[in-house]
Amino acid sequence: MAVDTTQTEAPVVPGAPAAPEVAPLSPHVPTEHPLEIERLRPVELHPGKALYRVVLPGVIQAPADLLIAASRKSSLWPMTFGLACCAIEMIATYMSHYDLDRFGIVPWPSPRQSDVMIVAGTVTKKMAPAVKLLYEQMPNPKWVISMGACATNGGPYTRYDRVLQGVDKIIPVDVYVPGCPPRPEALLDAFIALQEKIMEERAATGR
Ligand code: SF4
Repeated sequence: MAVDTTQTEAPVVPGAPAAPEVAPLSPHVPTEHPLEIERLRPVELHPGKALYRVVLPGVIQAPADLLIAASRKSSLWPMTFGLACCAIEMIATYMSHYDLDRFGIVPWPSPRQSDVMIVAGTVTKKMAPAVKLLYEQMPNPKWVISMGACATNGGPYTRYDRVLQGVDKIIPVDVYVPGCPPRPEALLDAFIALQEKIMEERAATGR
């Protein structure tokens, strides 16, 4: 059967469903061979849904290390102990005016279940072995906040031979809080920095 190549539109049959709309051809496309041009028209993509989205609609996918790190940073349990005047500011941070609990931070009176050590105050060489022992009794993963000038570098006691010139001489420190003493807002800021660090290091080995 001969094909009428001059016909550019499909014939209209009464009662038949309307033909799907197609994108009009560019005016620069030659119209001498419309059937050839119709075969060469790009296929329109209709991306379907992945199988798991069909079987489990509404399920959120997230990496396990992201969920674990988010759980850890939202449930930090600092061990309750203080060494000197900085501890008063630490205690004030736990009180209702600053309310550390709203970050999921709960003070815990045992190293066995704690995961954060706040070194708040002067670390004397007599006290240093006890601080190190408490740190070693904490389970992994664990973090240390050095609160105040004394814990960070000896503070005003730089010429005292009996004062440890920085608690990082005996245990690793994650966040340093400057000040003598630091205000409770500074300790809050240290916890927020620690939470960010936990999220950044979520894929690190051993954490
Ligand atoms: S840093 Fe200042 S406030 Fe804190 S323990 Fe040392 S002397 Fe006291």
